[in-house]
Amino acid sequence: MAQIDTLSPLRDVIRQHELMAKKSLGQNFLLDLNLTAKIARAGGSLEGVNVVEIGPGPGGLTRALLASGAKHVVAVERDERCLAALAEIAAHYPGRLTVHAGDALEANWPDLIGKLEGPIRIAANLPYNIATPLLIGWLKTEPWPPWFDAMILMFQKEVAERIVATEADDAYGRLGVLAGWRTQAQIVFDVPPSAFVPPPKVTSSVVHLRPRPEPLPCTSSALERVTQAAFGQRRKMLRQSLKSLGGDLSAALEAAGLRPDMRAEEVPVEGFVTLANTLAK
Ligand code: SAM
Repeated sequence: MAQIDTLSPLRDVIRQHELMAKKSLGQNFLLDLNLTAKIARAGGSLEGVNVVEIGPGPGGLTRALLASGAKHVVAVERDERCLAALAEIAAHYPGRLTVHAGDALEANWPDLIGKLEGPIRIAANLPYNIATPLLIGWLKTEPWPPWFDAMILMFQKEVAERIVATEADDAYGRLGVLAGWRTQAQIVFDVPPSAFVPPPKVTSSVVHLRPRPEPLPCTSSALERVTQAAFGQRRKMLRQSLKSLGGDLSAALEAAGLRPDMRAEEVPVEGFVTLANTLAK
């Protein structure tokens, strides 16, 4: 196993601090420092880059981020049992790790990042129970371009496939439209259940999302209104599924270059944006 710092091996950290994994907190820890280093660097070099990490837990990924050269890591962890272990990492990397105890779903990101200078990246082995709401929150950030230059996030593979899906894919849906509208998203690699302690039931995937500097002009609420209606009845044709939205549907479909007999899963992101803008008028 790789030696990236002189801190105790993660297994010992977990034993010393009695960090038995809690299912309710989505705790599946990564103990392989080769793997955490691979995740840390999945978005490119970390030299001079600040990182916001969600759920550092015993600190495997946190240590990899810091050892890989991250300028400063701001971590949000809900489980107070992990704070002592994280304090040891902070002491090992003076002035480079700030830990906030609390719920990432309640976080005020601009407040947390404060006056960090330089690019900021989000990196996390996310707790699966809140992974999608956290991502949606970041994708809906205003103003855009957002405060982060990239997101490197671990999801269950099935969720990762929905994030990167386009109209050619079975997994295409509301999440794929929102992610595709504002970012370029790709799966970088899969991680088998055996890499985690305890192992989850399914394979995971690391996703790299890069914000588009100029996404097609639209509001996330207008876009979601249309995708909710369209994918809420995904087997129905657009002329039926979008009827409830009111407005001149025929004109909106024509403006988007779409046929009324198409189904939601055939409509590219640009089509949804045009529909959203036309129907919002
Ligand atoms: N980063 C560690 C690793 O890779 O081994 C732990 C990842 S584990 C999948 C998810 C982490 O998120 C746990 O440490 C858990 O306590 C934390 N967590 C769960 N819910 C949270 C929340 N609402 N806000 C912040 N952290 C949370």
